[in-house]
Amino acid sequence: MSILIFLESSGDGLKRSSYEAITAARAVASGAPLIGITINATEAQIATAGAYGLSQCYNVTGAEWTSFKNSAVAAAVAEAATTCGATTVLFSANATGKDVAPRVAVRLQAGLLPDCTELHGTSTSLEATRPVYAGKASIRVKATTPTTVATLRPNVFTAREDGAVTVAVTTFAPTSSAGMRSTTVTGVSKNEGMLDVAEADVIVSGGRGLKGPENFHLVESLARSLGAAVGASRAVVDAGWRPHREQVGQTGKTVSPTMYIACGISGAVQHLAGMSTSKIIVAINKDKDAPIFKVADYGIVGDVLEVLPKLTQKISSVTGRS
Ligand SMILES: Cc1cc2nc3c(=O)[nH]c(=O)nc-3n(C[C@H](O)[C@H](O)[C@H](O)COP(=O)(O)OP(=O)(O)OC[C@H]3O[C@@H](n4cnc5c(N)ncnc54)[C@H](O)[C@@H]3O)c2cc1C
Repeated sequence: MSILIFLESSGDGLKRSSYEAITAARAVASGAPLIGITINATEAQIATAGAYGLSQCYNVTGAEWTSFKNSAVAAAVAEAATTCGATTVLFSANATGKDVAPRVAVRLQAGLLPDCTELHGTSTSLEATRPVYAGKASIRVKATTPTTVATLRPNVFTAREDGAVTVAVTTFAPTSSAGMRSTTVTGVSKNEGMLDVAEADVIVSGGRGLKGPENFHLVESLARSLGAAVGASRAVVDAGWRPHREQVGQTGKTVSPTMYIACGISGAVQHLAGMSTSKIIVAINKDKDAPIFKVADYGIVGDVLEVLPKLTQKISSVTGRS
């Protein structure tokens, strides 16, 4: 009986969403060991998870794992889950987790609880709260299978350290070669220096109120002054003003940053579906009755084209970033 957590490495440590998943697991562990599984991570990266309560980690290594292969990773995670007798398998509900978790659930014949915002119960009887109807309601769900696979919405669970545990790292060599049937021929690399909305702590998003792509530099400047990522509504993505990777909402990315600043965005239900779990929402809109103000913690009624330069100037003078 244990909880297996899929961990992704990044820089010197792991992705923040991995620490969030370990913290969430701790709350429902009731004594069950927290075991990680990583793909080609370094010992130093894995060691950082000890501070969050991870006691053991399977590290899958080898040149064949350098490029990401969803089916192969799913086969490895499922095999690791069986090896350690996991009753709960956790992923972040990021792009990788959304891709791999359902495959693992099928392999384990386990129920899947996707995009959870709260975990309850214990590792042997896991329940979760998750948003439905584009975030208009939430439901409490439970799998009826012996093993449960769940994905956790990024940035909702706060990563908290819990003393220092030494992580016992085992090299894990999956016996099955299932899933190794494909290889990556071309890759898409991230734009250097640009934060991804799905991982950013602060997001400044622009909508049709910006009037045209030529005014988006105002959103970018505010984002730079805050060290934030730039997001966009679907209206401006469909109009070709911004790339799809920045779209927030039902058909874009789901985000839960510490602060979300919506500039010239009306607050249509499909947009709210992707950002309403943000911790602090700030809205700038010239229409005082715009629906975005219903979910906003702070609002500025005004013309974004006038408000943004002033706000950026003030914030830059405090943060020193411009
Ligand atoms: C199936 C489906 C899926 C969808 N998925 C998504 C999704 O993922 N993400 C998404 O965002 N949308 C999505 N939409 C579209 C959504 O319904 C809205 O059309 C879209 O969010 C509107 O974008 P907007 O707020 O930028 O534009 P608008 O609705 O046109 O709003 C512009 C806002 O800017 C304000 N404004 C205008 N000028 C200024 C100014 N000078 N200063 C300040 N404020 C100003 C206006 O008062 C208005 O509130 C989806 C729709 C459907 C049907």
